Amino acid sequence: MEQKIYPVCVIGGGSAGTMSVLRTVLNNDECLFFPGSPKDKKKSRALWVRKVENMPAHLGYKRGIEDPNAETLTWISESPFKEKLVLQKNTGVVQLRKEGELFHITDSKGQNHLARFILLCTGVMDVQPDIGGSIESVFDYANAQTVDYCLICDGHHVLGKRTTIIGHGLGAAWAAIMLYERYRPPGMRILTHGKAPAFDGETSALIKNYGITVSEAPISEIMGEEKGKVLRGFLLSDGEKVESDLCFVSLGLIVYNELARQLGADLDGRGFVKADDAGLTSISGLYVAGDLKANTKKQIYTAWDQAVNAANAINMKLRSSQRPKPL
Ligand SMILES: Cc1cc2nc3c(=O)[nH]c(=O)nc-3n(C[C@H](O)[C@H](O)[C@H](O)COP(=O)(O)OP(=O)(O)OC[C@H]3O[C@@H](n4cnc5c(N)ncnc54)[C@H](O)[C@@H]3O)c2cc1C
Repeated sequence: MEQKIYPVCVIGGGSAGTMSVLRTVLNNDECLFFPGSPKDKKKSRALWVRKVENMPAHLGYKRGIEDPNAETLTWISESPFKEKLVLQKNTGVVQLRKEGELFHITDSKGQNHLARFILLCTGVMDVQPDIGGSIESVFDYANAQTVDYCLICDGHHVLGKRTTIIGHGLGAAWAAIMLYERYRPPGMRILTHGKAPAFDGETSALIKNYGITVSEAPISEIMGEEKGKVLRGFLLSDGEKVESDLCFVSLGLIVYNELARQLGADLDGRGFVKADDAGLTSISGLYVAGDLKANTKKQIYTAWDQAVNAANAINMKLRSSQRPKPL
């Protein structure tokens, strides 16, 4: 028996992946969907997002990405488009290769599939600080959002709070400067956590001018209460206790580009996948959306917009390939 060829395969079940699936089935295109294995989900940003305060209509959700995404899949499964969605629950993709016009997909359960177009939405993850030999001590605080990661999403949390930034790069310095200029918090400190600050002269001068202090000693302990709901501050290895009500981690991102790499897609210097406005990469038939895509704001609403662009571009190609030829 000949193996089925799916017109579209969406990989990744976060903001970009779910919008890709929704737009694809609403376009009446059949969609093979891999939301990720439990391991993929655990290391995704989608899992770590709690309250989404910077988008209308999201405040009611306890888990700002997971809950609306689950509702969307439930709606599809009860809609007239339900036959268009082939959901591979709790399954990720481990290998992608292209032969001729077709993508060969190997999933995390060892099954093989074929598709004409791939919409890749595997996202990124924030680098966590290793405190006292483990990254786990920060998790309770991240869940309670007393430790934050995304400036656009949660920068407003610093209002009225003594704030620390963990990081030693220019990104960390400019996070501190931007938050100070915007919200004038009662205290702003950069903890480089054992690394030498990599700030240029102009940035260092501005930091000094604003009274932002920089400590280079490694952090040996994070101090707080109530399972991370209250952050008290950080104990440094030189014995200093830095009082802080809120912290931002600014240590960079891990980009989940492995599948794009397997296909040989062009990446930028930081590992993001290069693509045009519609999300088309350097590999014909391979599209990307969401945080994985180069030169984009890393936000839910931008992930949605990119997903719609990509799903529509794929639909246009599918329609035009089926159009009757002029006589
Ligand atoms: C703490 C935090 C708070 C945030 N708050 C906000 C906010 O308030 N507002 C906002 O707009 N943005 C917020 N963001 C940013 C937002 O989370 C991202 O922009 C958004 O999740 C990007 O969507 P994505 O689909 O690209 O990636 P993700 O949502 O991270 O989804 C990636 C998906 O890919 C899957 N996956 C990974 N590898 C594989 C594989 N090999 N096979 C199959 N599936 C795979 C994962 O299981 C996951 O489902 C926040 C981010 C963080 C870290």
